[in-house]
Amino acid sequence: TELTGLVLDNLREVPDFPEPGVLFRDITPLLANGEAFSTFITGLAEHYRGHIDAVAGLESRGFILAAPLAYTLGIGMLTVRKGGKLPGPVLGVDYDLEYGSARMELRPETVQEGQRVLVIDDVLATGGTAAASIDLLERSGAQVVAVCMLLELAGLGGREQLPGRQVDSVVVYP
Ligand code: 5GP
Repeated sequence: TELTGLVLDNLREVPDFPEPGVLFRDITPLLANGEAFSTFITGLAEHYRGHIDAVAGLESRGFILAAPLAYTLGIGMLTVRKGGKLPGPVLGVDYDLEYGSARMELRPETVQEGQRVLVIDDVLATGGTAAASIDLLERSGAQVVAVCMLLELAGLGGREQLPGRQVDSVVVYP
């Protein structure tokens, strides 16, 4: 689609970041290109309009995408944050990452019962971050209707960690 080309044209690949052996996909060129970023967010908004009641951004780069998308649609944004960032009460999940381990937290009071939520982040790698975040959202009463990722690194098996989920990846790498 048009959005796939926008992302591919505004992407940078960085070898050995943040650790040796990791090929990091850097989305800062897309963010810095005002026309591309605006067209991208508008395109996502048209795709999801009417189907979702809130957008959950996954810290940190998911926030950059979730905020303008939620604002464009006139709906709320939920922040799923790394451990220790949110004032309580919070729900938390510990999980393993491609490089290291991590914890995500959510304030369940920000979620309305039965709310249709879109989860958004920049990269789907092993799927641990998305799976943990979905768990937190659903334990808080949300109905996660789709997961939107700028890039899916299919070789890392993230989709298999999200069985039965609608995963909308703008760009899929094998
Ligand atoms: P996962 O939990 O799916 O293994 O990792 C996904 C998380 O790690 C996402 O929050 C994502 O931002 C980050 N991540 C992993 N690999 C990359 C990458 O190559 N580029 C970017 N931008 N983020 C990555």
